[in-house]
This record gives sequence, structure tokens and C-alpha cells, in this order.
Amino acid sequence: MTRSSRIRRAALAAGACTAVAALLGGAAAAGAATPSPQAAPDIPVAAVKAHLDKLQSIADANGGNRAHGQPGYRASLDYLKGTLDAAGFTTSVQEFTSGGAKGYNLIADWPGGAEDATVLTGSHLDSVDAGPGINDNGSGSAGILEVALAVSREHLKPAKHLRFAWWGDEEDGMVGSRHYVDALGADSAKISAYLNFDMIGSPNPGYFVYDDDAKLEKVFKDWFAAKNIATEPETEGDGRSDHAPFKDAGVPVGGLFSGADYIKTAAQAKAWGGTAGKAFDACYHRSCDTSRNIDDTALHNHTDAIANAVWQLSS
Ligand SMILES: [Zn+2]
Repeated sequence: MTRSSRIRRAALAAGACTAVAALLGGAAAAGAATPSPQAAPDIPVAAVKAHLDKLQSIADANGGNRAHGQPGYRASLDYLKGTLDAAGFTTSVQEFTSGGAKGYNLIADWPGGAEDATVLTGSHLDSVDAGPGINDNGSGSAGILEVALAVSREHLKPAKHLRFAWWGDEEDGMVGSRHYVDALGADSAKISAYLNFDMIGSPNPGYFVYDDDAKLEKVFKDWFAAKNIATEPETEGDGRSDHAPFKDAGVPVGGLFSGADYIKTAAQAKAWGGTAGKAFDACYHRSCDTSRNIDDTALHNHTDAIANAVWQLSS
């Protein structure tokens, strides 16, 4: 997740009004009968962690980070691309320039499904310069990778087209995802939902659900409610991750977040466990954001919730 700034806080204030409007607009439709789609499989957290170990080893071999313009970023992208190609995805690499360096988005399409109602799931793959970026955002990147691999293993034949994306240079202000949305132009209307996952394994975790679109929010909230896990509306990351360019273009956005450098309250520690008075991720944007900076249970819960959303929204 990108660092907050006064400009982004202003954007957040403007965004809060549209979120309320979306909630009101969606309330009428909430009572409609929904079909019961095929259930998503359990996502093996050991497999997600194996991807995180791989990203850690890539950082270790490339100066300690996976940042935009650094060799660890491209090595991370090549690892994901090879894995997705082998699983039957159609992948492409979209280039852009930022800060004088070449940046790359990785796009992976699962063949089939209605492309005029594409469900797009994304995470930023770059770290900051300071460290390997395993929670921020190896966690989201590895989580959606394993969900994509589950789509392949289950030979899913969704009604709506499924696309997964890993964005470059998020940490300098969502540069890769903004480039993608700009290049889409009017085709952004073909994206029925954009789901964003930026930090989903925070070591002192929270469970925050994006409240930008009432229908998408409900899909996530219902899953956590069924597991007896309390959630709160996500506010720390508003306007600070890759959903922002999509939201600006009028695409319905949703997502999950386990917390960055905000401090866990006593009430939150009671609901979720962990330590009150301590940041959700004390290693946010630091060299200690390593493969040890992950809560396995939070990573597993969030990844299963992503799979459920991908299955439900594409059916
Ligand atoms: Zn970040």
C-alpha cells in the first residue's frame, strides 16, 4: 500500500460521499434472490506461504527488495508468469515508464466466460526499496496467485470472464494500475468488478472489508459472518491502493485488508486477538517485512474469502 499524503486524504474525503451513495443505492437490490453457485475450494495456506518464501528468496538474491526499477521486481513477475503459464492462463506483460525506469504489469486471463462482464482480481507486486515487501504486498500477490491456480485445478467454467492482474509501481502512487485503466479507456465498462488485495497477512491482523460497493462488500462480509469473524469497513487504505484508479473510472470495486501502521484498539484486539496498542503491521515499509512478518491464520482466512468472492461473482 502506498504511503498516505495530504492529496490522497483529500481524495478520501471525496470518496467517502460516493461510498455512502453506493450503499444506499445497493440496499434495494440486497433482498433479491441470489442463485447458489458452486462452492469455492479451500485454498491451501501452505501453498500461499511457499509463494511468499519464493518472493523472499528473490529479494534476498536481488539486494533485499522487489521494488519498481530493481531486478527483484522483474524476477518476481517472471516467477508468477511461469507459474500461471504452466497452469493454462493466457498471460501478457504490459509495460510503462515511471521515474525513468521501465515498469511492468502482469495480466493473466482464464480462457472463457463473458468478457463484457469481466471479474478482475488484482494485487500490487512491487515492494518499497526498504525491504522485501512480504506482507506489503507479497501476501495479496501470493493469495490471488493461489486462487488463480485453484481456478485451473478445478477446471472452473465461469459464466463471466476471469482476469487476474499484478500491478507494477504501486508504491509510487498506483502507477501501474493507473496506466492499465488509462489504456482501457471506454472498455472499463466491461469490468463488472475489480477486487483489490493489498496486505492480507498482517502479523497483528485486522479484518477490514472495502465499503465502496454495497454488493461486493456483502459478498465478503457474508463469508466472514459465516465463519464468525467480525469485520470492519476498510478506511486506512482508502485512495491508497490500486482500486482507486478503477473507482475513479466508475468500475465497482471491493477488497480486503488486514491493516498497516494504524494501531489496533482494545476493542479490535478483543474481536480479533493480537495486541492492542500495537500496529497491525509494525514492519510496514521496513526491512523487517520478511516471510516471518505474516499471520498464517489471517492469510488463510483472507485467501479463502477471495476464492469465495471469485467463484460467486463469476458464476
Ligand atoms: Zn506499501
